[in-house]
Amino acid sequence: MPLEACPALVLNADFKPLSYFPLSLWSWQDVIKAIYLDRVAVVEEYDKVVHSPSAEMKLPSVISLKEYVKPNVHPNFTRFNVFLRDRFTCQYCGHVAGTGRDLTFDHVIPRRQGGRTSWENITSACPACNFKKGGRTPQQARMHLRTKPYRPTVFSLQNVGRAFPPNYLHDSWRDFLYWDSELDS
Ligand SMILES: [Zn+2]
Repeated sequence: MPLEACPALVLNADFKPLSYFPLSLWSWQDVIKAIYLDRVAVVEEYDKVVHSPSAEMKLPSVISLKEYVKPNVHPNFTRFNVFLRDRFTCQYCGHVAGTGRDLTFDHVIPRRQGGRTSWENITSACPACNFKKGGRTPQQARMHLRTKPYRPTVFSLQNVGRAFPPNYLHDSWRDFLYWDSELDS
């Protein structure tokens, strides 16, 4: 495994991931710097060893910050986060796009009518619905919007995100990502 493929999961001082979307991962170089500066503790390690002229160490796979950082309440307004908020589902017809590739953004109030590019005015739409709606509002196009777009909190996105885990998870990360998830009865 190349070193580039060995990032470390970064936990806050409370042992929860610093961020879920995107998952807080640091490159091994940043990790070693942070250890050297005594800012983090090593929680889990890869089998891989790195050497310096004077020392050798196992590459950390999970680290935790020594000082607690207050997490952001609101996630970044990104493509992925909008799709995640909408559960990768077209908000007009309910079509579920497996990977998000079949999804587009729709300005609920079209830009031409003064609609902004914001959490509250952007929704996920399949290409067919987006085309059908064109430059009209849902009322003008007689299309029903399933949920009104809203600005999510990190917590609400995290809850949705449990159904959509990242593609690549190292085994040593799993406990920290899912220990606090709700149990299905
Ligand atoms: Zn649709």
